[in-house]
Amino acid sequence: MDYKKYITVVEDWPKPGIKFKDITTLMDNGPAYKSAVNEIVEFAKDKNVDLIVGPEARGFIVGCPVSYALDIGFAPVRKEGKLPREVIKVSYGLEYGENVLTIHKDAIKPGQRVLITDDLLATGGTIEATIKLVEQLGGVVVGCAFFVELGYLDGREKLDGYEVLTLTTYE
Ligand code: IMP
Repeated sequence: MDYKKYITVVEDWPKPGIKFKDITTLMDNGPAYKSAVNEIVEFAKDKNVDLIVGPEARGFIVGCPVSYALDIGFAPVRKEGKLPREVIKVSYGLEYGENVLTIHKDAIKPGQRVLITDDLLATGGTIEATIKLVEQLGGVVVGCAFFVELGYLDGREKLDGYEVLTLTTYE
């Protein structure tokens, strides 16, 4: 499917010069959303995945329907202060400042095979941090799947050695 038909490019948002890829128009089209989720389900099928992990908030939109289809669980990665029990955390640099991501300490059992999902791969910082959280808990990252890739930001370089699926790429 040509997913670009369903993604809205918003000029100068959230700041001048950024062309934001808005996937809400893909999600609110039933067949397009279903097709995108199904492609990730197919990618996961031969990987013996035990658990899906996704960063807030759009990683949930991608990961939860995949976990439902595969009959496996979903564990959220959230910004600091949002998860109610004991967490581990990792910080990573943004263009200005830094971000802290957390996961519940008991969310992953050592050796569990984890597929990571998010809506979009940009610089790769968010997913690199999510991989660190999964691996610190002893999880094995068997792949990373996204609806969209911004090829010009070279996020894939940070994911060297991991299997990566993206459904559409903006160059
Ligand atoms: P990265 O950490 O630079 O790879 O940025 C990816 C994160 O930022 C993802 O969690 C995305 O949800 C969000 N993001 C960055 N750019 C866009 C965009 O154009 N559309 C939607 N989300 C974006």
